[in-house]
Parts: sequence; structure tokens; C-alpha cells
Amino acid sequence: MAAIIVSGRAIREVILEELKPELECLSIGRAMKLSVLQLFPQVPDEVYTSSLRRVAEKLGFQVEVINHETKDDLVNSIMMGNEDEGVDGIMIQTPEKADYLYFTSLIVPEKDVDGASPMNLGRLIRKDKGLRPATADAVIRIIKETGFDVKGKNACIVGRSFRSGLPIAIMLMNEDATCTICHSHTKDISIYTREADILVAAVGKPGLITGRMVKEGAFVVDVGINEVDGKIVGDVLFEEVAERSSFITPVPGGVGSVTDIMIFRNLIKGVRMRYEK
Ligand code: NAP
Repeated sequence: MAAIIVSGRAIREVILEELKPELECLSIGRAMKLSVLQLFPQVPDEVYTSSLRRVAEKLGFQVEVINHETKDDLVNSIMMGNEDEGVDGIMIQTPEKADYLYFTSLIVPEKDVDGASPMNLGRLIRKDKGLRPATADAVIRIIKETGFDVKGKNACIVGRSFRSGLPIAIMLMNEDATCTICHSHTKDISIYTREADILVAAVGKPGLITGRMVKEGAFVVDVGINEVDGKIVGDVLFEEVAERSSFITPVPGGVGSVTDIMIFRNLIKGVRMRYEK
């Protein structure tokens, strides 16, 4: 079987068109603004920011990027962004995972466009109204966009971070999939990946998922973003996994492209929540 390659870029365009009429209804008299707050900026984060800017331009949004040399400065910026009526969404880019968890916990829920704050993660678990984690939202939308039925399927999610693996598992479970989560202490992940109708790799290790680890006909979603020899690759060995699967997302041009637009979808949702208060 040769897989259908699911283009995140094409899905991003579909979502862009969906958002335009929503924006027309939600006229706030100024361009909406996303504030990206970076601590000790790194090259991949800059790459990410430039792709966000491209999407923002298509929607007529502003993106400001503020770099910080100290954690105290970053805390101050978050507090100011929370209060500033001209800032509609806040994103944090930090090299350390623990820092990311801490700083995102300071963002008011309606401006937390990555859906990473304790309030938004809690709302996800409770299925309450809130901003969903953008990457997980992207994964679900990609699968649904193909018409693949999630209900009753076995899903294996490799990776359990608060930012990607765990929310992806919760959202797939909310769609009635039966989920297994693997992590760095799982003895042999292939026992679980081989049973999966939906396999999501969200680890950050190039080549982790090989062809023999994948069930024939599976839907494979590659969340990983890794730099190898100056090239961006995912966690999945694309060529050999594409031979066995029914659908596969590429890297680049897969999940990351849809995550970008989900950030702005969250921003619009957050503006509506603020103005409806
Ligand atoms: P993370 O916080 O480092 O989490 C990685 C997860 O993988 C952890 O749960 C870890 O287990 C698990 N893990 C590590 N080695 C493993 C192994 N050999 N076998 C099985 N599990 C293993 O990373 P993250 O922030 O979730 O990001 C994961 C990847 O996705 C990165 O490449 C990142 O750049 C990318 N990403 C992409 C997007 C997008 O929109 N496309 C968005 C966010 C992140 P433990 O919990 O036991 O440590």
C-alpha cells in the first residue's frame, strides 16, 4: 500500500477561508495582534515565527516578537500582555520545557493561544469551552479532513508532553478512539505501535518510527520537528512508513502548517470570549 500524503498546507488554506467570514463578523476596529514572547531566542523558534507571520499576513493580523534575556523580563512582558487590550494572544518560546510550563501558566486563559495554561488544559479534560492546545487541535483536524473515521479505532500516541502527546491522546479519546500512550520508559514501543490504526509520533527523535513498527493501512501523523544535516525532518522514516500506511503527514508541510493556523483560530476564539464576558 502506498499512503496518501496529507498536505497540512492545503488544510491550512481551507481553515483560512473558514476564518475569514468569522473575522468579518467580529469587527473590533483594529488589527488583531499576536505577541510572541521569546526567552533566549533560538534558531528553530525564529523559523517558526516567520511561518506564523506569513499566516498572520493572510488574515490581516499583526505579529510582534519580543526577545528577553532574563526570566524576570519575560514575566513582566506576560503580565503587561495580559492587561494590554491591544494584545489578543500570547505565545511563549523557551528552550527549556519546564520554563514553558511555568510561563504559560501565567497567561490569562483567553489570550493563551497555544491552549497550554492550566485553565485551558483543565477545560480540555472536562470538555468545557476553552482554547484547545493548538498542535492537538491540528492533529484531530488533519485526520478528520481526510474523512478517516476515528471512532472505535486503536490509537497509539508516542510522547506524553503537556504540549503535544498528552493533549493529542485526550482529544483522540474524546473522539472515541481507544488510546495507548508510549513514552521514554516504555520497554518496546513497537508492541503498541503495531496495533495502532492511528499512530501519532510526538517525540523529537528523527527516524524513531520505522516501517516494521506500523500496522498495514494505519493513519500516521508525524508531529516531530527535527533538524538533521540542515534539513527539517519528523520522527517517522517517511519513505518506508508511507509504503505500509494509508495516510501519512509529511514534515515539513504537515502538522506544523495546521498548528500555525490553529494558533490564530484560538486567537479569534479568545477575542470572542473576552468581548462576550
Ligand atoms: P518533549 O516535551 O521533549 O516530549 C517528548 C516526549 O517523547 C516525552 O513524553 C518523552 O517521554 C517521549 N520520548 C522521548 N524519547 C522517547 C522514546 N525513545 N520512545 C518513546 N517516547 C519517547 O517534546 P514536545 O514538546 O512534545 O515535542 C515533540 C516533538 O514535536 C518535537 O520534535 C517538537 O519540535 C515537535 N513539535 C511539533 C509541533 C507542531 O506543530 N508540528 C508542535 C509542538 C512540538 P518522557 O515523558 O518519559 O520523557
